[in-house]
Amino acid sequence: MKGKTFRSPYTNVIHAGQEHDPQFGGVSVPIYQTSTFAFRDADQGADRFAGRDAGYIYTRIGNPTTKALEDNLAILEGGCGALATATGMAAVTTVYTALLDKDSHLIGTAACYGPSRTVMETEFSRFGVTADFIDTSDLGHVERLIRPNTRLLYIETPANPTLILTDLRACARLAKKHNLLLVVDNTFSSPLLQRPLDLGADVVLHSLTKFINGHSDVVGGVVIAREEALFKKLQKVLRLMGGTMDPHQAWLVLRGVKTLALRVEKAQQGAAELAPYLAAHPKVAWVNYPGLPSHPQHELAKSQMSGFGSMICFGLKGGYGAGKKMINAVKLCALAVSLGGIESLIQHPASMTHAGVPKEEREGAGITDDLIRLSVGCEGVEDLRADLEQALDKA
Ligand SMILES: *Cc1c(COP(=O)(O)O)cnc(C)c1O
Repeated sequence: MKGKTFRSPYTNVIHAGQEHDPQFGGVSVPIYQTSTFAFRDADQGADRFAGRDAGYIYTRIGNPTTKALEDNLAILEGGCGALATATGMAAVTTVYTALLDKDSHLIGTAACYGPSRTVMETEFSRFGVTADFIDTSDLGHVERLIRPNTRLLYIETPANPTLILTDLRACARLAKKHNLLLVVDNTFSSPLLQRPLDLGADVVLHSLTKFINGHSDVVGGVVIAREEALFKKLQKVLRLMGGTMDPHQAWLVLRGVKTLALRVEKAQQGAAELAPYLAAHPKVAWVNYPGLPSHPQHELAKSQMSGFGSMICFGLKGGYGAGKKMINAVKLCALAVSLGGIESLIQHPASMTHAGVPKEEREGAGITDDLIRLSVGCEGVEDLRADLEQALDKA
């Protein structure tokens, strides 16, 4: 990976892989809003296509603004290279398309982002790909399901929305033993709280829509590979399938990522105060937050994450009837899907983000009807607590 790297994540989010604009010295990377790049002469055009000249050709294949974002994110995750995609789902489908063949088999985390599972079960299944989405925190179960045609271990940890963890080091050992690739969707943690490639993963992906951009105003995704051969394979598929990122979008994400460390820290502080507050509230039946000592995998969280994040899930004693009254009553938190923005968001996965997963499979994955998901933002925690308090009063 080319480009500057620093010791502190606070510096890396701002400067890693970044150069000032070579033409005028602009401190912010310019938006190269162009679809194509003029060649000096015919030989240069031929050299670029043949890879003898590294200059740009056409924006679907590569663009300087997008490249600045990719260089930054590759350094944050510790990969050899990054590929920015139009959306997080374009990152997921690029990984599936590049790394699976006809008749391959995948083992994935049951409580993963709903569409990552749905696209596998309804679209990739049409090409003979099969998948088992299971509780990947049970590694014995994962190993029993490995077959000769299994290619990918597709892990989300903490899982969406249950916040169940999967042991990434153990998955990496299993992947090595059985010659599988380990792919991790790291959207919930961001590279600041968890670096799967350091723990042995082969590929990491993100929905940039969430923490990395962080302002609820852009959609985007990224795929990051540990090694060059895998990176080239993913890059080839992305360029051909066309799910690449637009330069204007890349510039907005570059602007967002600069405050990632500040935002993650602030939101995490809020969650660390709100999780015990909710757990102690008389109307709350249960709370799942990796930072609570009562979380069944609190020790694993400490060993593979450098912070517990800002996602909390909980259920009320009155079930979803009471939960619905609560989410209808919040005033500061927005009732909206998505997560990882500076504003706090609350939603009901069973009827919203995970409504596409059949009820039986959803409940099997721990996404019960009473589960409410809260993405804690960067507001003052006293205001958030007051908002939750008045909404719980009405539940
Ligand atoms: C949102 C999300 C995605 C999909 O990203 P989009 O940008 O909405 O396409 C994938 N994985 C996780 C964990 C997500 O939260």
